[in-house]
Amino acid sequence: MEIVRAASMGFCFGVRDAIEVVRELGESGTPVYTLGAIVHNPQVAEELEGINVHVIDSLDEAPEGAVVAITAHGAPPDFEEVAERRGFKVVDTTCPLVTRIQKTAYDLVQQRYSVIVYGDAQHKEVRGIVGWTGGKATVMKKLEDLEGWEPTRRVALIAQSTSNVQLFIEVAKELVGRMVARGVEIRVINTICKPTKERQRAVRDLARQVDLVLAVGGVQSANTRKLVQAAEEEGARAYQVQRVEDLQSEWLRGIERVGITAGASTPDWVVDQVEARIRDVAADHSRVLTPA
Ligand code: SF4
Repeated sequence: MEIVRAASMGFCFGVRDAIEVVRELGESGTPVYTLGAIVHNPQVAEELEGINVHVIDSLDEAPEGAVVAITAHGAPPDFEEVAERRGFKVVDTTCPLVTRIQKTAYDLVQQRYSVIVYGDAQHKEVRGIVGWTGGKATVMKKLEDLEGWEPTRRVALIAQSTSNVQLFIEVAKELVGRMVARGVEIRVINTICKPTKERQRAVRDLARQVDLVLAVGGVQSANTRKLVQAAEEEGARAYQVQRVEDLQSEWLRGIERVGITAGASTPDWVVDQVEARIRDVAADHSRVLTPA
């Protein structure tokens, strides 16, 4: 069996830098409390927990005066002020590409655009972006979500950084058509980040060359799910693998070429483990096919 890795995959610089900041603090003996997971990967989260980097859901869970980290996904603009007023020390690890989206959203509202964010309303990044619009942005995953929404004179569409490029294009086309038909001015700003675009392009190329695609990444990782989705859109069979134990040997039966990709929050060593397991399973299958 041949194993092919995607040309672009795994850790993006935003997640890597955020982890570095909290790891350094944790290792120097300063406990850090991250608001939500610093990375949607259970293996990395376990490792960080071991060096005093803890995940909290709200400031109420952090001890008095603690160091609280904003994750790469960012936070609403008032978060830092509120936290500091309560006596916490804030470390901001927001990815610069998320900061750029927040600033874009803020500027659009200042220019009196009605802002639509294409993304998952529950995702921390999207909640942060909406915060930067003063709560004025509308979030949609599909056009039906806009039912009952009335555009103003000017509308701007932006996207969560890890959105599926193809689906964003389709939604944007349809929305532009509807707004133009109503005489509304519309701007589309592609805020999907470069690492996401590269990984999606690479998984589509990969999917066309292999029989099966395995996307390694945490079940909470939206960008890993989108890699599976992109591979499926290219007609490949694709599965998400969070841990090496998730790999089912049945998936590999009869497969000649298997492709591997990984989400932006998946460390290389997890990918290496999955690849080693694929080799073991392939060897077992070939032993069954060619008995001594
Ligand atoms: Fe930054 Fe993109 Fe990585 Fe998100 S996926 S942390 S926006 S580089």
